[in-house]
Amino acid sequence: MRGARMTIRVRQLIAGQWRDGGGAAATSRNPARPEEVVADVAVATEQDLGVAVEAAVAAWEGWRRTSIHERAEVLRTAAGMLAARAEMYGAELTREEGKTLVEGVSEVRRAAEILRFHAGEADRDSGEVYASPRRGESIFVTRRPLGVVAIITPWNFPIAIPAWKIAPALIHGNAVVWKPASLVPLLAMRFAETLVEAGLPEGVLSLLVGPGPLGTRLAEHPGVAALSFTGSTQVGTRLMETCARLRRPVQTEMGGKNAAVVLADADLDHAAEQIVLGAMRSTGQKCTATSRLIVEAKVEDQLLERICTRVRQLQVGDGLREGVDMGPASSSGARASILADIEHARAGGAQALTGGVSYGDAERIDGYFVPPTVLRLTGPDLPVWRDEVFGPVLSVVSTADRGEALRLANDSAFGLSGAVFTNDLDYVLGAIDDFHVGMLHVNSETAGADPHVPFGGVKDSGYGPKEQGRASRDFFTHTTTVYLRA
Ligand code: NAP
Repeated sequence: MRGARMTIRVRQLIAGQWRDGGGAAATSRNPARPEEVVADVAVATEQDLGVAVEAAVAAWEGWRRTSIHERAEVLRTAAGMLAARAEMYGAELTREEGKTLVEGVSEVRRAAEILRFHAGEADRDSGEVYASPRRGESIFVTRRPLGVVAIITPWNFPIAIPAWKIAPALIHGNAVVWKPASLVPLLAMRFAETLVEAGLPEGVLSLLVGPGPLGTRLAEHPGVAALSFTGSTQVGTRLMETCARLRRPVQTEMGGKNAAVVLADADLDHAAEQIVLGAMRSTGQKCTATSRLIVEAKVEDQLLERICTRVRQLQVGDGLREGVDMGPASSSGARASILADIEHARAGGAQALTGGVSYGDAERIDGYFVPPTVLRLTGPDLPVWRDEVFGPVLSVVSTADRGEALRLANDSAFGLSGAVFTNDLDYVLGAIDDFHVGMLHVNSETAGADPHVPFGGVKDSGYGPKEQGRASRDFFTHTTTVYLRA
């Protein structure tokens, strides 16, 4: 299958049936070779959505009464299938989303790990017991599923992000109606197919491939109990308004503008290596990508020299090719927007130390490639310092004041992830208290999301209970406090 060039028909999963949606034809394309159609699909309509939610409401009754151990078995079986198919699905992921084959395969394996972690909920505690002030009474808190949950996911991790929402939703006894991003219908179908093959009962999961506004219709459908969303802050904020109006629980994971602070005492070789990984891996199209670097002025030149040397060594190209370190941007719109941000920054006085212009050779003109770019800024005033670029662009500012470094890092609307490179324990302890982020990395890059620990941000980066780890059950369940007398 690796590198196969056929177009695959994507079907919707509606009320347990694989079928075409009632809407218009759509396609996904290989961003490294846009003439290549990866998948075609007839998109879902509002009518399809109604059928899916109705079926999910009916299926939920059976699923919530299925023992958690049986639910776990479905997830474990699906995890085994994903692990066995990692090479094949990883190659499809590369064709459809653009990241390198190594990144694609490891994302599929990670999705398998996520399913396994959540299957483990069957073996963990599931409530709390309290002493009662009254004789003969026990008090305990039990967790219940919410009902039918709507799940809306982005294109940049087309299998891992759906896994970290859908697995906790299912293990805790919810039914799911899922709208993935339009750019990655094939990977969405692969994930849904795997769960169905693993034994998920009919109607418990529906997959609706369709345009953005279908997501809003889903979020406001009367049969839906809650919404879990990952995507841009703009769309997430509108969906939070919708859910607030309907008094419906909502969880949003949104944008980031993650900063790494490097102090003069840090191991500069290590810091440079980590920052390049954080900024450029997955073509910088990660909510946790390192997009701002704040370096102590006395080591700025040494650090930037090390970073730029590594960036210039990156092989950019079709991610299916061996030796390629960085694939294309996900779409022509994404590439245009990233290049416009770079040009705007240069016009505003930023110096491009690497990259900065589009490629000249024929293959990379056709694909949506963007050169990995390091921009040295004179201060924190340009939009490229404040706004999410969502591409392989690292903006750099220096300061002589170590305290000011943290202030600059916090001066952002976002608060997803951050990094500090130093061996100064006092500084690290200060950063743990004062760096306003949901995830802090000390001496490692800003990205990273282990399945067993909470994931998510503060400020404009996220709202509601955290995802992943045991924190995820706080969103996908509600508690009932029981006062029990015999
Ligand atoms: P997006 O444009 O907000 O899309 C995300 C999802 O929302 C897609 O399924 C999209 O569908 C759907 N959508 C679009 N318009 C909608 C509407 N009006 N109503 C309901 N749903 C709608 O984001 P993206 O471009 O896919 O992803 C990039 C963004 O996601 C970045 O900002 C990134 O930081 C963020 N992200 C955050 C995290 C995190 O955990 N914090 C993780 C990954 C990505 P269509 O594709 O059909 O438009």
